[in-house]
Amino acid sequence: MTTSVTAYAAPAPKAPLEKTTVERRALREHDILIEIAYAGICHSDIHQAREEWGSAQFPMVPGHEIAGVVAEVGPGVTKYAVGDRVGVGCFVDSCRECANCLAGEEQFCLKGEVQTYNGTEYDGAPTYGGYSTHIVVDENYALRIPEGISLDIAAPLLCAGITLYSPLAHWNAGPGKKVAIVGLGGLGHMGVKIAHAMGAEVTVLSQTLRKKDDGLRLGADHFYATGDDSTFTELAGTFDLIVNTTSANLPLDGYLSLLKVDGTLVHVGAPENPSAFSQFSLIMGRRSMAGSKIGSIRETQEMLDFCAEHGLGAEIEVINGDQINEAYDRVVSSDVRYRFVIDIASLNA
Ligand SMILES: [Zn+2]
Ligand SMILES: [Zn+2]
Repeated sequence: MTTSVTAYAAPAPKAPLEKTTVERRALREHDILIEIAYAGICHSDIHQAREEWGSAQFPMVPGHEIAGVVAEVGPGVTKYAVGDRVGVGCFVDSCRECANCLAGEEQFCLKGEVQTYNGTEYDGAPTYGGYSTHIVVDENYALRIPEGISLDIAAPLLCAGITLYSPLAHWNAGPGKKVAIVGLGGLGHMGVKIAHAMGAEVTVLSQTLRKKDDGLRLGADHFYATGDDSTFTELAGTFDLIVNTTSANLPLDGYLSLLKVDGTLVHVGAPENPSAFSQFSLIMGRRSMAGSKIGSIRETQEMLDFCAEHGLGAEIEVINGDQINEAYDRVVSSDVRYRFVIDIASLNA
């Protein structure tokens, strides 16, 4: 027995999202039913709903920044109880058997983790995301949202927050470290907040100085325009870690030249086409270039606890369900500071 729930879905590629219903499975042994309170709008929702990343499944209910409250639990659930505040991020299952799953790095599951939406459960069922009143998920793939972060500003942490926390933690951002965040958008603004809370000296590298006041308010110590060539001479050899949150084809040799010896440039965004760079840019400073993909369940929980402890959440603009299509256009034109969050209660109106 499935349950029909209200959702916003794209019926076909590039079609506007519209209000509809989707089916949620009956609770299995370890499932929890979550009444969703807020769902963030991630840029990847738009890429997938518009089928810009290759063929996708429709109807599509996007949303992998989900925050809500447990409404029901399956008979074998031990981690959560009705009323608990919980979140769901970018995946809702993984094989649990491969080397990466066993190592607690489910985001790199060798069988392919099950995406929260535009994905397929191992039993063949399509997955539907958070633009919906309810979701059913295995308790092992849900996160606890600590008291001290409200659910609206917590929602974007489930993708944007962990996407930045993971590389900052992995490459040891902290006191004495100089960290640059490239791009001050949905991802970048969380990078600034988290790197600052970790104790690093934080620099924003943005195309222009348009968002300088915001950057400094969010915790950056310095703010430079990459559109100004003098930035690259002034900051040469400065950073221990640079996290690139943009999906542009950056002049990589220029960015690599900003790293100290042994510094690392980490990409969390990717352009449509490959970028070129000179190996000399690595050789001349024993530098590394790396990538990072969201984070594991364990690390996502660690991130939520860290954010609660430091009073961090996303900077958000709350919208109703009927504003999703307009919000998509505004995200594409970078007209949001810094994350749209859908008030799911509006779906019942
Ligand atoms: Zn996302
Ligand atoms: Zn696996």
